[in-house]
Amino acid sequence: MNSKSTAALNLYHQWFGDRAHSAYGKTAVINKPGATHCAGCGATGRLHSANSNQDSHSFCDVCVTVAGSYEGIKNPGRMGAGWAAIITPENAILSTGNEENLGAFKKLPNTQVFNNTVQKTLIQCILSPPEPPFLLVAFGNSSPKVCRQLRASYSKDLLYISGDSIDRIDAGIVRRCVSALNDADVPQKLLASATSSVLTIARGVASEQATERAKKTIIDAEEKHPGITEIVRSMPLADSLEHRWIMACAYAK
Ligand SMILES: [Zn+2]
Repeated sequence: MNSKSTAALNLYHQWFGDRAHSAYGKTAVINKPGATHCAGCGATGRLHSANSNQDSHSFCDVCVTVAGSYEGIKNPGRMGAGWAAIITPENAILSTGNEENLGAFKKLPNTQVFNNTVQKTLIQCILSPPEPPFLLVAFGNSSPKVCRQLRASYSKDLLYISGDSIDRIDAGIVRRCVSALNDADVPQKLLASATSSVLTIARGVASEQATERAKKTIIDAEEKHPGITEIVRSMPLADSLEHRWIMACAYAK
């Protein structure tokens, strides 16, 4: 665990985790026999079983609030795939696509619960982040991993999405490009073909015929949508995380 992970874990625990866990957490098995280290952060000391299954991972007082089981959440009993959270020092926003599971946290003060997909919650946070610091979590399949891979964001522009991986996104660029695309009302298909044509020319390894085709595609796209080439050139690389989020945010259904 590095200090950034520890700081983020503490933000989660101190504000949301401890309150939620003391209200709804299952801590039936404490001091799990045979367990020596927390599966999340590696700490020693008092360890909880993550759920009533004796063979499950064991976690310290802090990590169990991230990875442990909660009353009211059905299978798998914890916040896993399908759950997302935005945690600030004052407020928690939780979402999952399962209305029934949302009930687990409905009565927790300063907590808003939404029936929403992870993707939509992430899009909302990228486009309109809360005041920093905040923690944006896309819970995943590995509960020990999510404890180790929490990163708080200290800026609205440099944003971390924690979960099965830690994604670092320049959200400022994403928002600028999304608003340029929205202002220009660029159709998704036209943008995609212009983007791949600009990339073909920039790489400079395509055949003469393919390069000519790409040039023609750009000229056609520019005719249909004057200024589209400039928008495409101002966007991050087509294989970057930022590019993926620009497309997701600009063309969210
Ligand atoms: Zn731990």
